[in-house]
Amino acid sequence: MSGYNPYDNVLATLERAANILGYEPSDYEILKHPERSLKVAVPVRMDDGSVKVFDGYRVQHSTVRGPAKGGLRYHPDVNLMEVSALAAWMTFKCAVVGIPYGGGKGALAVDPSKLSKNELKNLTRSFTTMIAPIIGPETDIPAPDLGTNAEVMGWIVDTYSMLKGYPNPGVVTGKPIELGGSLGRGEATGRGITITAKNALKALGREIKGATVAVQGMGNVGSVSAKLIHAEGAKVVAVSDISTGIYNAGGLNIPEILTFVAGGKNLLKDYKGDVEFIDNAQLLTLDVDLLVPAAMENMINGDNARDIRAKLIVEGANGPTTVEADAILEGKGIPVIPDILANAGGVVVSYFEWVQNNQKFYWDEETVNQRLEALMNEAFQSVWGIAQEKKVTVRTGAYLIAVKKIVETLRMKGSI
Ligand code: GLU
Repeated sequence: MSGYNPYDNVLATLERAANILGYEPSDYEILKHPERSLKVAVPVRMDDGSVKVFDGYRVQHSTVRGPAKGGLRYHPDVNLMEVSALAAWMTFKCAVVGIPYGGGKGALAVDPSKLSKNELKNLTRSFTTMIAPIIGPETDIPAPDLGTNAEVMGWIVDTYSMLKGYPNPGVVTGKPIELGGSLGRGEATGRGITITAKNALKALGREIKGATVAVQGMGNVGSVSAKLIHAEGAKVVAVSDISTGIYNAGGLNIPEILTFVAGGKNLLKDYKGDVEFIDNAQLLTLDVDLLVPAAMENMINGDNARDIRAKLIVEGANGPTTVEADAILEGKGIPVIPDILANAGGVVVSYFEWVQNNQKFYWDEETVNQRLEALMNEAFQSVWGIAQEKKVTVRTGAYLIAVKKIVETLRMKGSI
């Protein structure tokens, strides 16, 4: 899939929704262009005394509906186009679930597993200092994404607060609880995926209990999804990480597997349970009731979409399905619940975290989970409803809602 550019995915999906909504090109031209992109060269002194410089990015795709919001990714292959696509998806994600944010994303082109804790902390501090002019609780609020976690967010809070001269917990979400993080944030994305999977299966006349499931990816999103979907009584038959996939037709022992891989201490290839080893390509084409791609972009593409046998796809990762694959899956009648709806639980609880930081009043975990569930249910019903009504895919339904909200806001502001 060389030459694949995820931003083309964004433009094609936006275009389709805008056409159905009957918009003129001038109504949504603004949304085709990220508002602000910052590229920085981030130096860090390594433990051996040498200095290395890593490419860093922060892209604010839109602040039409509120401050830019979205994660920070640490991954060796990131580039500006990918970060721009991820930022745009955040704009549409926040709009579809109705939280008052625009969209942003940042990234560092680094493999965090190759750095010591000290190097990673110093690199994060340098990066924060270099993007500090454009981030802030009222302007652009980063959060964890692939390769980052609550600990990294803690370093950012500290660095940003030092620069400002007073505590600034609201500059990022997904922080440790002690620094103003929200209960429930760590599991929020997987919880939202589980709620959405239940809703989608129900809409298709099925129950999650007893459904067979394959989950691609064992990061935060994949592992929590597998855990909670398993806890709902589904039969998770396959999971995978970067090293391998594992399969058992009778259902995997998910709690044991999650303990084995917890905190990245082990890879699935070294797991010794009663499993068959399969590769990622095999996992994606298993005959299951539900497939959750929770790894990276571009995993379901023109090369493998025809072989997909899952009856339902709920996207855990951002952008796992290309436009070409979407068309093939539509032709095969396989519903795809899109990323901007399915994995929105993370940013929804990020919003709750930010609200708690602003109020300086903290909620219990039950309140967080209840509010998340209510919001995810409502978003699902409106997206599913419009997709049925307009006879379009669920992805197009989600974009119809999101694009309309943003374009109407632009109109009310007199920007178009
Ligand atoms: N990185 C997550 C996402 O892609 C969460 C973003 C956030 O909480 O701001 O949705």
